[in-house]
Amino acid sequence: MTKRAVIALGGNALIKPGQKGTIYEQFANTRETVKSIVKIIKDGWDVVLTHGNGPQVGAILLQNQAGRDLVPPMPLGICVAESQGLIGYMIQQCLSNALRKEGINKDVVTIVTQVLVDDKDPAFENPTKPIGPYFNEDQALKLLKDGYQMTKQKNGWRIVVPSPDPKAIIEANIIKALLDDGIIVIAAGGGGMPVVERKGWGLDGREAVVDKDLSAERLAEAIGADVLLILTDVPYVYLNYGSEDQEPLRKVNLEEIKKFYEDGHFPAGSMGPKILAAIRFLENGGERAIIADIDHAWEALKGETGTHITK
Ligand code: ADP
Ligand code: MG
Repeated sequence: MTKRAVIALGGNALIKPGQKGTIYEQFANTRETVKSIVKIIKDGWDVVLTHGNGPQVGAILLQNQAGRDLVPPMPLGICVAESQGLIGYMIQQCLSNALRKEGINKDVVTIVTQVLVDDKDPAFENPTKPIGPYFNEDQALKLLKDGYQMTKQKNGWRIVVPSPDPKAIIEANIIKALLDDGIIVIAAGGGGMPVVERKGWGLDGREAVVDKDLSAERLAEAIGADVLLILTDVPYVYLNYGSEDQEPLRKVNLEEIKKFYEDGHFPAGSMGPKILAAIRFLENGGERAIIADIDHAWEALKGETGTHITK
């Protein structure tokens, strides 16, 4: 049986620190990122890719805001869908080109993906996730009128939105069917568009963002992945991260990582959700979760680097 991996690409897969995020930069970064993915595919893995969208969805929000007198601004869920399209297109094209160059005959497709959340998730009462760019006070007032919640930070105003817990991937069955057909799938980008189930109506979008690592885990569960590979900008998960005695974790079991998680080694909003995703994946039948840096994805999957979490 072919092994299956869900690979979550961190923000640095597409935009490097200090870059403006022009489309040329993003394509150049994506071409680099897919190199290790090609090696993984060459090794025979079935692959589902997912990715973050922070800077991209932020840019779309800003464009909406700047053009609001010319075209109606779009709500957040729509902006997330747009970002899935634009990022999916980049990865799809770069990966297809790279595969073809290696003589690998495989198709790549992006699935616009919705993620089911609970309408009663307490996160909806307490928006905590700042998203997108900084706005000045005038812009912030307009956004408040549009119904956004805003928070004032050092560098200006930002939109804050709820970040509910993902429960299920709506398009899971089609993603699975595509994998069974040998197709490489890009899905649940930016954590997916959060939707709730309403009686007598069906699915309905909500103004929120879902953490991409937690959605990647639901995706991994749904397709019966063997490995959840979370790629980011650090080579290992560390204990006492940022202090002089920080210590890389190379191999760690479920019980140990749960204890470190409870001891507060992994902050919310960065390493926290990755660890929670790893814990959930193992508890829900996954074999191995790996957290590693994006340039060594292939080596990490082979067991040569990265933090490996197993039962
Ligand atoms: P991504 O876009 O890949 O999701 P994040 O910024 O959300 O990136 O998460 C990765 C970051 O988590 C690292 O750059 C690092 O600064 C931070 N981090 C926080 N705690 C830890 C830890 N214990 N070990 C490693 N990295 C950590
Ligand atoms: Mg993150």
